[in-house]
Amino acid sequence: MSYGVLHKGTILILTPYPLLKTTHTPVNRCTNLGGNQMKYEYDLHIHTTASDGVLTPTEIIDMAVEVGLKGIAISDHDTVAGLEEARQYLHTTTYSLDFIPGIELNTEAEDDEVHILGYFIDPNNPALNQRLQTICNSRYLRAEQMVSRLQEIGLEIDFKQVEELAQGKLIARPHIARVLIKNDYASSIKEAFDKYIGRGAPGYVPRYKFSPDEAIELIKNAGGIAVLAHPGLIKDHRKVIEVINSGIEGLEVFYPEHSPEQIRELFELAQRHHLLITGGSDYHGPGSSESRGNMGSAAVSKELVDQIYTYLNERHNCLLYSFSLTRPGLSPKN
Ligand SMILES: [Zn+2]
Ligand SMILES: [Zn+2]
Repeated sequence: MSYGVLHKGTILILTPYPLLKTTHTPVNRCTNLGGNQMKYEYDLHIHTTASDGVLTPTEIIDMAVEVGLKGIAISDHDTVAGLEEARQYLHTTTYSLDFIPGIELNTEAEDDEVHILGYFIDPNNPALNQRLQTICNSRYLRAEQMVSRLQEIGLEIDFKQVEELAQGKLIARPHIARVLIKNDYASSIKEAFDKYIGRGAPGYVPRYKFSPDEAIELIKNAGGIAVLAHPGLIKDHRKVIEVINSGIEGLEVFYPEHSPEQIRELFELAQRHHLLITGGSDYHGPGSSESRGNMGSAAVSKELVDQIYTYLNERHNCLLYSFSLTRPGLSPKN
């Protein structure tokens, strides 16, 4: 039996999530999956120009259809700004693409970056939007400070270049990295991070403090499902267990940078804790790092996506039931 706090002050007993009886093979699939032959057709981790991706939401949808995907989730860092464009564009097309609104919240646990994905969040949720605005403002100030530090160590870089690249939207470190590449200080995003703006590098400035617990609560209160992104990249494995104990609902088991062994371990971990299993490419667009430039890599099967829908419906029914307990005359069927 698993327990989840879904609504402030209301503890609900969730139907135990069954151990997944799935035919989904726990192997890594880092290469492009080749058109309509694909069995793994849902890429649940994609970035757009609303955060640090290179393609607009419209271009992402066109590309998803082009490579033969059946469904995608747009999960921009700390913003929901790309979701509406994607939804509206889809309505103007005849595509039968399954679109899942998402977000990826960047949090920190001591020295580890912990990213929490939120699926099916309500993009108009006031608490979520208020927090995202605060994060957006702090990202802007942080980027300004980082550019100042780079100037102090003698690099010719102008904050206006970074702003231009971000097009007035959320600013992230890859924007600074791309300017460093343009100004000939690095030949790749990775090199720019290693030499200048990664943790411990001379231009690094710590980010806005936001804990995984806060992100999980924010996502759940906005009606979303909280999933731990790329757990294999978290250096201290105990943090993964802590996040599970904090009420995470799924693990991103399939990820381009996860080794086959990590995928097997994470798959088993998710099953042991009755968690949802997700996967995605972390696509940032052409010209991004090799592992994040391949839409459809680490995509998952419809079977796993159906498990997410089932879970969402069960939770919705739980909430209706809880509501009916305090509202005489209503039953879950109402
Ligand atoms: Zn991430
Ligand atoms: Zn991502």
